Amino acid sequence: MRAWQRAEVPTLSSLGEGTGERPSVHDVRTDRRVVLPAGPTASMYTCGITPYDATHLGHAFTYLAFDTLTRVWLDAGIEVHTAMNSTDVDDPLLERAARDGVDWRELAERQQQLFRGDMEALRILPPDAWVAVTERIEPIAQAVQRLLDSGDAYLLEAPDAAGSDVLFDTTRARQFSVGEGSRTDAARMLELTREFGGEPDRPGKRSPLDPVLWRAERPGEPAWESPVGRGRPGWHVECTVIAMDELGVPFTVAAGGRDLRFPHQEMQGHHAIALGAPLFSLARLNAGLVAFDGEKMSKSLGNLVLVSKLLAEGARPAAIRLALLDHHWRDDWEWFPGDLEAAEQRLDRWLAWAQLPDDDPSLAESLVPWLRVTLHDDLNTPAALQAVDAFALRAPADEGSLAAIDALLGIDLRTVPRR
Ligand code: ZN
Repeated sequence: MRAWQRAEVPTLSSLGEGTGERPSVHDVRTDRRVVLPAGPTASMYTCGITPYDATHLGHAFTYLAFDTLTRVWLDAGIEVHTAMNSTDVDDPLLERAARDGVDWRELAERQQQLFRGDMEALRILPPDAWVAVTERIEPIAQAVQRLLDSGDAYLLEAPDAAGSDVLFDTTRARQFSVGEGSRTDAARMLELTREFGGEPDRPGKRSPLDPVLWRAERPGEPAWESPVGRGRPGWHVECTVIAMDELGVPFTVAAGGRDLRFPHQEMQGHHAIALGAPLFSLARLNAGLVAFDGEKMSKSLGNLVLVSKLLAEGARPAAIRLALLDHHWRDDWEWFPGDLEAAEQRLDRWLAWAQLPDDDPSLAESLVPWLRVTLHDDLNTPAALQAVDAFALRAPADEGSLAAIDALLGIDLRTVPRR
């Protein structure tokens, strides 16, 4: 699937600034800080949207966190490979399409188009591969067949379908037990399984936590012919297969919002190991969640703040970026409408600074090390913004500093419009 236009990323080393260090980031699975990657290349799989509520600020915050990581890697001279999915066939999407009386494919296409536009406006670097699930039905079905063959999956009759569903047998989990991979306790796992439609009480399941790998065709639902019967892929296995096919295993980072920690990301790891991977990813990174009106931003609660709406109301994309970067990527936080105006004002101050003449060599100092030191430390973007604030008070905006703000924070002060 076509991704979006890639923003230019200046190379600071070509401006005589050397290269940055590899960043240290917090890994969920080990609950430790790790310096990534170990070698000269890094690969990252980011869980993409289900295209029916694009793009609220919670999405934007997640993708901006991993955009920052990508930018820090590029600055360190790392060769970066990235992939992302779009869950363009799944229950919430189908329910929304049915409720609104639209074709699910049209809904997905429209929302993906909106997402593209929002990501491009925010200058979030596109993945090398943006893959829709409907583009990968066959390899996913083949992986499900292999899991059946190896005994890691089983058939379960579905009363409302002609065929059987295929479920993953979590009691056979290898390398680490279910829950260990996301540090989630038994009661919480059960609760989350229910919350995400995993039907823990369904009769015949070997474990209440077993997720669906392949859902047999139900009346009125989309379905594809496959070796495991007519149906469609389950949610976790789609990401497992797309990530393995695009990046190989183990890849460096599995990335997503914290609400995906269990069951989604945890199950991907178990699926991959059952499919023969030594490990799915070396680290798992979770971005914090954004609340609005006191609750996590979500379509089901109806408390969404959409990027497209803010843009239509005249917000500058760079100001939205600044408002989001002012929160640490792992924190949960609440959006207040005043945040945007504060970010617009900060952007105005930066723009005024960027216009000042850089004609006194005695004042020459580079912002580059200031930005690098904050971002290498678990992508501390709020500290990076403060560094720019402080720097703007003491040194002129030289070419290197402006390039660093562009390369590392994704804000090109030479092109941002004044209000
Ligand atoms: Zn995913």
